[in-house]
Amino acid sequence: MADRQDDVFRSNLERATEHLARFAAEPTTHLIAGERRSPRESEFFDDHSPIDGTLLSSVASGTSVDIDEAATAADDAFVAWKSTPGEDRRAILHKVADGIEDRAEEIALVESIDTGQAIRFMSSAAHRGAANFRFFADQAPSATDGNALPTPTHLNYTSRSPIGPIGVITPWNTPFMLSTWKIAPALAAGCTVVHKPAEWSPLTATLLAEIALDAGLPPGVLNVVHGFGETAGKALTEHPLIKAIAFVGESVTGSMIQAQGAPTLKRVHFELGGKNPVLVFADADLDRALDAVLFMIYSLNGERCTSSSRVLIEDTIYDEFVGRLAERITRIPVGHPLDPQTVIGPLVHERHSEKVRSYESKASAAGATVHRGTLPANVNDGGAANYVAPMLFSGARSEMAIAQEEIFGPVLTALPFSGDEEALRIANDVEYGLAGYLWTADVTRAHRIAAGLDVGMVWVNSQNVRHLPTPFGGVKRSGIGRDGGDWSFDFYMETKNVAVALGDHAIPKLYR
Ligand code: NAD
Repeated sequence: MADRQDDVFRSNLERATEHLARFAAEPTTHLIAGERRSPRESEFFDDHSPIDGTLLSSVASGTSVDIDEAATAADDAFVAWKSTPGEDRRAILHKVADGIEDRAEEIALVESIDTGQAIRFMSSAAHRGAANFRFFADQAPSATDGNALPTPTHLNYTSRSPIGPIGVITPWNTPFMLSTWKIAPALAAGCTVVHKPAEWSPLTATLLAEIALDAGLPPGVLNVVHGFGETAGKALTEHPLIKAIAFVGESVTGSMIQAQGAPTLKRVHFELGGKNPVLVFADADLDRALDAVLFMIYSLNGERCTSSSRVLIEDTIYDEFVGRLAERITRIPVGHPLDPQTVIGPLVHERHSEKVRSYESKASAAGATVHRGTLPANVNDGGAANYVAPMLFSGARSEMAIAQEEIFGPVLTALPFSGDEEALRIANDVEYGLAGYLWTADVTRAHRIAAGLDVGMVWVNSQNVRHLPTPFGGVKRSGIGRDGGDWSFDFYMETKNVAVALGDHAIPKLYR
């Protein structure tokens, strides 16, 4: 068994090296109007592997000049793309999905190395991305449909049309899947896109744009401008040709984008941070709850907006449940992201791993108990120190920083509660409100708690299982707007109402 795992690891490494060779051999450029373009101001930045600091690629660093070219290309392509029949857009977007599936292994390996996320989770990322394209592709033909809203005197009918070029700004945690979640509905709606991917994991955005071009997406419909938030990202949010910004990232960045977009009245859609509670009641199926709690914080390096980063445990089972969590984290394998046994890989960047580690001393100083998993002895041999052992903070109180702040790493904070009221009070006692999870055998309590949680999404006796037609998004500082199903089209489209008189309705006769 171990030999077979070693073989898979070796083969993953070999194939990743092959796929990454092109990024090392030549700079990663922007993709504007269907062409690879170097930045006009000839600036590049280095993209390093989070595993050992190896230089993966020299990446174009976009400025307002590049953004202007991309926004102009998106604007030039807009009328033709929005006028392309929905059935044709549907066919092209299905071809994009086919292309993603054909290159799924390449996407998974490149993304694993660029982000540090374990291949066991990344191997499905491309397929999720393809599923996003297929789901929204199928809605392209009906995206412009509206409602008939008749009255006795008038027929009112609505129709929808794409809003225009969209700026899509994405984070580094699971960049490929997240970008398809924004780009696919925008394209299906008939919008064109300028995508600014995160500077810490930029590579798969280039793969997606290439796949889209190869699939027959017309030049200019999807443009990629690489670079930093404060330059390329900011310029995108300020550009007058860009009608809306779909943003996934930190809450503070969302506030900045709202301010930057205000002079041009940008429509914004924000998927922001979270400090999501999972409530475990004593009557729950505790074995399943335990598995779900562990999975939802220690998978994907804990760098997941919907991670269950706070576990609220009923006091009668608190010690036992914490003991079981603490025992399980000692067995979570931390290691190279391409090793098929790895659950936690290196965190994306030194700055981020330092931030995550800093919560260990914050927890101790605040009086919480720190339980740590283990790091294999050799994980930092390569030079980068981005590996972090899984951590569990028990004995926490809600006012502590470890219970309030989004850590965005493999770190879980455990808090006890007594009774439904206190459970809800603690669960809602944060500035975020993305997702909530609850485990109980009591159906009435489940509905009551679900109704009382200040969040956009609740899972009852379930881990985070997504169904694409359902709404996805948060409240409070976790976001503005919803994605999924028709909610995505509400954002990427404008609705028009037409009122047609059915006869001689009364018209006031002024001064007659
Ligand atoms: P971030 O906000 O630092 O960066 C996200 C993107 O915004 C990057 O592309 C960055 O370059 C860009 N950016 C930064 N400053 C900008 C500015 N002034 N103007 C325009 N663009 C700017 O976030 P991150 O650290 O990359 O990602 C982690 C965060 O993303 C976490 O808070 C996480 O919860 C959140 N996230 C949320 C969801 C969700 O669905 N709610 C999903 C994934 C990640």
